[in-house]
Amino acid sequence: MEKRDVSKIDLFLFDLDGTLYLGEVLFPFTKELLREIRARGKKYLYMTNNSSKSVGDYVKKLSRIGIEAAPEDFVTSSQATIRYLKQYHEGATLYVCGTRSLKAEFAEAGLDVTEDADKAECVVMGYDTELDYKKLLDVSRLLTERPDMPYIATNPDLICPTEFGYVPDCGSVCIMIKNATGRLPVVIGKPEPMMPLLAMEREGIEPERCAVVGDRIYTDVKSGLNAGAKGILVMSGETTPEILAASETKPDLVLRDAGEIIEYL
Ligand SMILES: [Mg+2]
Repeated sequence: MEKRDVSKIDLFLFDLDGTLYLGEVLFPFTKELLREIRARGKKYLYMTNNSSKSVGDYVKKLSRIGIEAAPEDFVTSSQATIRYLKQYHEGATLYVCGTRSLKAEFAEAGLDVTEDADKAECVVMGYDTELDYKKLLDVSRLLTERPDMPYIATNPDLICPTEFGYVPDCGSVCIMIKNATGRLPVVIGKPEPMMPLLAMEREGIEPERCAVVGDRIYTDVKSGLNAGAKGILVMSGETTPEILAASETKPDLVLRDAGEIIEYL
């Protein structure tokens, strides 16, 4: 893909941190980029793996740094997990190792969530910032006693950035559970294709007209490629030229930052 082929893209799926902002600081091009995409009659969505926050929390976060977003502007790993559960485990009673906000989102979507592990027919692991040992014990027992119990994780991230460094994310807790039970989950978030697929389905856009734009090759770019869409890497976040050179996954296009998209729209 050449830079001029950006004009063929009708749906941009943006990663957030490292792509549109860094921590609490908006990149200088972000507002113009979002405005110009809409001005051309194209669409964008924000795509996040973080299942500990609700879409409402993200709307507030973006508003705090100067972007007015609506709940429908997001595609999240929790939404993709809901879609997956409805498709493959319809009606199942779910034991959710996740935040209250994640459980509330599942319940609002019509899923059957239980606090009683004995009633569980399926285990879902989220990024649980309210994790306690009781939940680890329940999940370990369920996955051990019932080896055929479906086990799904919202996202594979090992760590999540904070003000001081990193904290363990969903993927790290999945490793604890793997050590205890030998079980690994079906993973929904990036780099899996579920979120881009859900976004394209919702917006009615074909894969060749959709691009995932992000600062990580092994999650953002890969999820786009896995979904049959384009994967655009921006060098404004985590990826260094050395990481790019060593990567087996090759982005369709590499840009200095997402602001470069503006001139090729
Ligand atoms: Mg990022």
